[in-house]
Amino acid sequence: MAEEEFTPRVAGYDDTNRAFVQGFMARGTMTFPQGQRMLAGILSAKNGNRVDPQSVTLGQFESYIGKARAAVASLDFDIRRAKHQARRGEIYWAFINVADDPVSRFATVRTPAELSYIKRLLDAMFDDYNTPRMEVMAVDEAQALKKSRPPAQQRQSLGGQSTQAPSRRVDDEDEEGGGEEGQDTQAGPATAQTIDKGLKHSEVLGLLSSLLEQEWLELSEDGFYSLSPRALMELSEWLMDRYNDPEAEEKEWQRIKTCGHCKEIVTYGKRCAERDCILRLHDECEEDLFRSRREKKCPFCQTDWDGKHFVGERAVTARAAFQKGRERRGNGRRSNRSDLADAVSTQLQVAEEEEDEMEE
Ligand SMILES: [Zn+2]
Ligand SMILES: [Zn+2]
Repeated sequence: MAEEEFTPRVAGYDDTNRAFVQGFMARGTMTFPQGQRMLAGILSAKNGNRVDPQSVTLGQFESYIGKARAAVASLDFDIRRAKHQARRGEIYWAFINVADDPVSRFATVRTPAELSYIKRLLDAMFDDYNTPRMEVMAVDEAQALKKSRPPAQQRQSLGGQSTQAPSRRVDDEDEEGGGEEGQDTQAGPATAQTIDKGLKHSEVLGLLSSLLEQEWLELSEDGFYSLSPRALMELSEWLMDRYNDPEAEEKEWQRIKTCGHCKEIVTYGKRCAERDCILRLHDECEEDLFRSRREKKCPFCQTDWDGKHFVGERAVTARAAFQKGRERRGNGRRSNRSDLADAVSTQLQVAEEEEDEMEE
């Protein structure tokens, strides 16, 4: 272990700090109440008398976080803090590997077929179901299952010409000259990648629940899978590299968007009613921003801000067609997924058609 090398550099770093870092690494992600419980356990063990979790202050917790960050920095780890976009007031701290491509890091624990499924799932969230009209950035189970196998053209072609990407997105294998993703990405005929047969539906469901368990994904009450705060913290830069156009103008629509108030990534929040305006806000940031303003107008384009245009799954669930579908089933929320999926995809189709009409 490299511990001996770095611990002396952090002033006041003792056994309790060491235990905190180990506990945090094991968990991956933590809220303040979870941190209170962990620290109370550590301090109880040290002092030999029971420490009440409630007595652990935020200041104390943050001081442990600060020392942990200093201790792990030389190992290319960091601890970052983010709020939950949908659950007000919930703040997360996550243990982040800052060194390499976060998706390829899955390669050590996932099979190549699972890894390529995860990429297809991300493409579904941030490409297929993330258009200027409908920025859903989440998928339901049926949509996740649709991605179980790679597109046919990719599957059968064993030659070198399988990489014409329809969008501007660079094909995975070609990024950074390849080779560094921990897998055989050397071009050439019939590599492991080009004969990816995909996953069975049962394997997809198993993978999804494992990603939920590891807090990489979240599943909403309405049945949508989205990236967790932890995944967003780790992936946000990678997502921007992969899905955004570095050459785009400042006010041009991009797939990965940041909040106009706190500048963090937004996958769940509100958008300006003006479709061409790129202002996006987290729910909490919307409140913060307009609390101090006399008029509720978009600070970018001055359009009246109605707070009824959504980013994230509410772009679908707030729509009449989705709600009607739910009523038809007697409000049984997640009881019938396929009905739900139908309502969603119908809605998406309608949206795309409307979009086409507007462009013509
Ligand atoms: Zn924000
Ligand atoms: Zn606007």
